[in-house]
Amino acid sequence: MNTADKIKQLAKAYAPETVQVRRHIHANPELSFEEYNTASYVKQILESYGIASENMAETGLVALIKGRNPEKKTIALRADLDALPIVEANEVDYKSKNQGVMHACGHDVHTASLLGAARILQELRDEFEGTIKLVFQPGEEKFPGGASIMIKEGVLQNPSPEGIIGQHVFPLLPAGKVGFRSGMYMASADEIYITVKGKGGHAAIPEMNIDPVLISAHLIVALQQIVSRHASPKIPTVLSFGKLEAKGATNVIPNEVKIEGTFRTMNEVWRKEAHQKIKKLTESLCESMGGSCDIDIKNGYPFLQNDPELTGRARAAAELYLGEDNVVDLDLWMGAEDFAYYSQEVPACFYRLGTRNEARGITSGVHTPTFDIDETALETSIGLMAFIALQELNA
Ligand SMILES: [Zn+2]
Ligand SMILES: [Zn+2]
Repeated sequence: MNTADKIKQLAKAYAPETVQVRRHIHANPELSFEEYNTASYVKQILESYGIASENMAETGLVALIKGRNPEKKTIALRADLDALPIVEANEVDYKSKNQGVMHACGHDVHTASLLGAARILQELRDEFEGTIKLVFQPGEEKFPGGASIMIKEGVLQNPSPEGIIGQHVFPLLPAGKVGFRSGMYMASADEIYITVKGKGGHAAIPEMNIDPVLISAHLIVALQQIVSRHASPKIPTVLSFGKLEAKGATNVIPNEVKIEGTFRTMNEVWRKEAHQKIKKLTESLCESMGGSCDIDIKNGYPFLQNDPELTGRARAAAELYLGEDNVVDLDLWMGAEDFAYYSQEVPACFYRLGTRNEARGITSGVHTPTFDIDETALETSIGLMAFIALQELNA
């Protein structure tokens, strides 16, 4: 029997357990960096498969599956453990028992899938050469991102993986399908906090005031020039301001206005340049209109770069495993993901797992109270991840 068929057989046999594991994690969600019970549950399951693990980043885990000749090559597979502060609205047996916390981003699926893939790889360890590194990280949803902490604590050393592979649920894609994109895929995301300072007073005597509301109106329009005139059309860039707070009244000009927004792009050099341009334009525009400002730009996750060679091979493996019809090209996605930190360090591939089932009404987006998945996707995900890992060890 060839490797793909062997893995398909194991995936079919292990999928029911993966469903149970996913449901357990789903019913017992924990917020970012508080994944103590989830981590000990994962540890216990790995142990039951004969895989020893080590704690990392407080609530994360790392484990190795050694094949024959383990020094030959190492490939890392990554899952994230954390849930979101959302009240679950699904009426299912495995509904969150932790009121106000919900696995609404599918990290329960990623963790259960990596455990399922690990079970398959452990079963086949005499049949491959090299080492599989399993990375279960905390805190994907919360800055500074569990990935950055795992990297600082050495997850990419001893042994250093030649590549890292992660997957994420994708409710826009039907279960049974997966999606890939080579090169830039997801955006960096930085937070912008501006306080525009003027001089408040009676709205009937504008000549006595410095109006921070008018300055802010100009500023918001002017800052879009960073996107339309300074960003290269070849580099996706988004600047959005979602919060604007001027606590005056119909007849009161306030002293200051607070503005908050997000800056997203897909190039680290341009990202730094853009921050400088945003600061300079904000300061000089406020000053030119008689006001002043405080501006703070907080760096979020970097942009996510899928290594073209690794992604090409992973995609080819997926076509082999699932058939060409079940592998699609992904569009750019201006959302951010802390897997991007790994992609700045080693060749990385982040692909999407289809979880949608239109006929069963499973269509809600991630981060919504009704997000759920078609669990048939789990058989696909555990087998495919194991297969991609083995193809990569052989590459
Ligand atoms: Zn999320
Ligand atoms: Zn997520």
